Amino acid sequence: MSEPIAQSGGAAPMLAIFTDFDGTLVEIAQTPDAVEVHPGLPEQLDRVARDFGHALAVITGREIADIDRFLAPAHLPVAGAHGAQRRRADGTLIELDTEIISAAQAIASAIAPLVAEHSDLILEPKDGAVALHYRQAPYLEEECLLAMQDAISDHAEFTLVPGKMVIEARPAGFDKGSALRAFMQEEPFVGRTPIFIGDDKTDEDAFRVAQELGGIGIKLGPGRTVAQMRIADVASVHALLEGLAEIANSSRPAAAIAGDAPILADTTTAH
Ligand SMILES: [Mg+2]
Repeated sequence: MSEPIAQSGGAAPMLAIFTDFDGTLVEIAQTPDAVEVHPGLPEQLDRVARDFGHALAVITGREIADIDRFLAPAHLPVAGAHGAQRRRADGTLIELDTEIISAAQAIASAIAPLVAEHSDLILEPKDGAVALHYRQAPYLEEECLLAMQDAISDHAEFTLVPGKMVIEARPAGFDKGSALRAFMQEEPFVGRTPIFIGDDKTDEDAFRVAQELGGIGIKLGPGRTVAQMRIADVASVHALLEGLAEIANSSRPAAAIAGDAPILADTTTAH
């Protein structure tokens, strides 16, 4: 028997919102640095985070510093390098192992000659990971894969993960699902129902974990997925976040809304 409708309203939904960055919050660009952040996005994320008790985090293959740069002045909890580095909601940082960082540098050095040979390839060395982008040279996919396999052969702690026109070498044992699980064990995420939104193969781990924890995976775009729901495009993700924030606000008791008013007023005038 389902609960009477009258008893289900009145409290803000206890959701924790997790989202990928590239291809989900921003359109994928020709090069990783060329992504364009919608001018209203950082403020929107800040506002939605506040509406959900700051239980909003970005889970990405990029480094945390990259996300901070793109989303400034928003300063959100972030899992970077597919969870190999993580900034908790309280601001504390879980850093990468130095051995992982130097192994990633060695892998990048091994790939450098191939990239020097083909100017359409882009090598993206990160702290603790290496991404090789072939978006501008799809015919080099096989060659890129072989070179990356060769480059990680001396580094058993690394694994290869294919993405959209990119192959990434990153430490095994970390993925977006383990990052989501780690956040869900901490305040303010603990006890909430997770939603994860993503667009790529590396997001599948996070869809699965979100759903294991009773939440929802939302896959952007076409392609096979374990996610239970789909969303069409980046603009729809922005609209979804807005809609969820509205639900959170309208579900709140009147007294709580009144109590929040000064905070909301601050945000509209501060930036
Ligand atoms: Mg993505």
